Amino acid sequence: MIRLLPERGGWLEVVCGPMFSGKSEELIRRLRRAEIAGQRALIVKPRIDDRYDIGHVVSHAGAKMRAVAVSRPEEIVGLADGYDAIGIDEVQFFADEIVAVIERLVERGARVVAAGLDQDFRGLPFGAMPELLCRAELVDKLQAVCHRCGGPATMTQRLVDGAPAPADGATIVVGALDAYEARCRSCHELRTVELSALAR
Ligand code: ADP
Ligand code: MG
Ligand code: ZN
Repeated sequence: MIRLLPERGGWLEVVCGPMFSGKSEELIRRLRRAEIAGQRALIVKPRIDDRYDIGHVVSHAGAKMRAVAVSRPEEIVGLADGYDAIGIDEVQFFADEIVAVIERLVERGARVVAAGLDQDFRGLPFGAMPELLCRAELVDKLQAVCHRCGGPATMTQRLVDGAPAPADGATIVVGALDAYEARCRSCHELRTVELSALAR
């Protein structure tokens, strides 16, 4: 496999996969390395839940790096001015304008690393991820360990009171006490609802 990066100009790298697959860890690793190389690196993330550590990206294993929480994708353009490498965590939570914003950063020469869930808890494409995966120079799809069988997990299981969440629940539930697990396709469960509920 040949994976080369442009020698001139900016580019987009996308890191995707289910929860617990190491996306935030990988984002932090890449941005740290950029800093070590003497580049100016910045991580931004969506401001979705203020109770969380708003000034940092924190991985499930405890890796941590300073980050700026933003409400709207447009804010990133000004924030990222002067940075060589820009990491964006939880990119699936941003509005569709994130695509144009990333395009603009890349066009002005930045390296953008976007990390996020490729699928929602139903297994459907999440937010702007399909568009970003399509436009990226480099794509990595990480796997977690299935909480059920220990196999390679590519999906995220939402549990409500320990039971599979209904398929017609909201995609994003800020502050909910739902639990999430990484699951492989055959262990992934969805409480069935009318098929029409899946048409968004
Ligand atoms: P993501 O951003 O994709 O949710 P993180 O980078 O926050 O993932 O966390 C990855 C870390 O989570 C792993 O290095 C590991 O220590 C831990 N972890 C906990 N549960 C799992 C699991 N089921 N599969 C893989 N890693 C897990
Ligand atoms: Mg993460
Ligand atoms: Zn499994």
